[in-house]
Amino acid sequence: MYNESMLQMGREPSVIRELFAYGAARKAEIGEDKVFDFSIGNPSVPAPASVARALEELSHMPPEKVHAYTQSAGDPAVRDAIAQNLNKRFGTEYTAANLYMTCGAAASLSISIKALLEGNEEVAVVTPFFPEYRTWIESHGGTLVKVLARESDFQIDLDAMEAAVGPRTKAVVINSPNNPVGTVYSRENLEGLARILERKQAEYGTTIFLISDEPYRELVYGGTEVPWVPDIYANTIVCYSWSKSLSLPGERIGYILVPPTVADWENVFFAIAGAGRALGFVCAPAAFQQVIARCVDEPADIAAYESNRVLLASMLDELGYEYIQPQGAFYLWIRSLEPDAKAFSERAKSFELLLVASDSFGVEGWARLGYCISPDTIVNSRDAFAALKASYA
Ligand code: PLP
Repeated sequence: MYNESMLQMGREPSVIRELFAYGAARKAEIGEDKVFDFSIGNPSVPAPASVARALEELSHMPPEKVHAYTQSAGDPAVRDAIAQNLNKRFGTEYTAANLYMTCGAAASLSISIKALLEGNEEVAVVTPFFPEYRTWIESHGGTLVKVLARESDFQIDLDAMEAAVGPRTKAVVINSPNNPVGTVYSRENLEGLARILERKQAEYGTTIFLISDEPYRELVYGGTEVPWVPDIYANTIVCYSWSKSLSLPGERIGYILVPPTVADWENVFFAIAGAGRALGFVCAPAAFQQVIARCVDEPADIAAYESNRVLLASMLDELGYEYIQPQGAFYLWIRSLEPDAKAFSERAKSFELLLVASDSFGVEGWARLGYCISPDTIVNSRDAFAALKASYA
């Protein structure tokens, strides 16, 4: 009567969303300030004033200029403004022809994966990974191959990548700054990855695409470099959104960049347009395309995340928790106090602490804390973290 695998996917709630829903119910029950909700990656910083100004300007424009369908790839003037922004920042020569506007990074990834996979192919994913990667890879007929990150620093493990990439590998997905760990891949690490992929392409006579998922590109701390991946590996496709950098997650606006260095890039772009069409996207939200054209040079406001990061890290240091020092995004990866991370997350709930167990990111023994929250929640969570630790003594 209906598609079984879709039924399963619809039924199985995302662990993150389930915990978030639990948090909302619990807050209603015992009070907002009694629940320490580190579950979700919803930016706590408001969208910049320039977004409100752009919307105000759009409200005075003829509706047909704001609400009409655009070209499937997006309004050429908007794509041109984005290309100019990238060219200024990365010394590239992109044009509107390299950019396909999407309904956020989720759509960018789903479309790119659908466009590339031909069946019976593999996509290697640096693990831990954003859980939806599995949904997109498997629903487009591919097989997800986990490539565990180096546990010492969660950079890409080049030996593990070497072993995982084979003749059926169509693409590798990386995400830096990383959700859930907060790592940023170094230039040296990315260069090592590029050399492996180049060697494997030559050995198998295939094209291996590197899909660089970058919604957190601008959210970095302490001057950490986020290298421009297409400069390092020619067959890179960039998936981006303004969900995090401009705090617009509900507006569903992003892009896919197919740089001219990609092998047969024009046909890759057509395949992306085909996949967008097959998935029924039609075009990215027209009004928010216009907003982006006006706000594309706006810097991300990271001050609140930066100070939350310091606050949270120093509290965890004091309490003796082990964690990976985040360099970017707004997540912190903490070592579970028992091998079973789900049991750890459950126990944390009994102290009104909501942490996401690492299992849904593809590994055991860790948990994710999202610190895109009010600093008061961090400060007030101290006793709960102390009690959680003490409960394992
Ligand atoms: N990729 C990663 C790593 C994410 O963390 C997210 C959202 O949290 C997405 C993609 C999807 O982003 P968007 O909301 O722009 O679709």
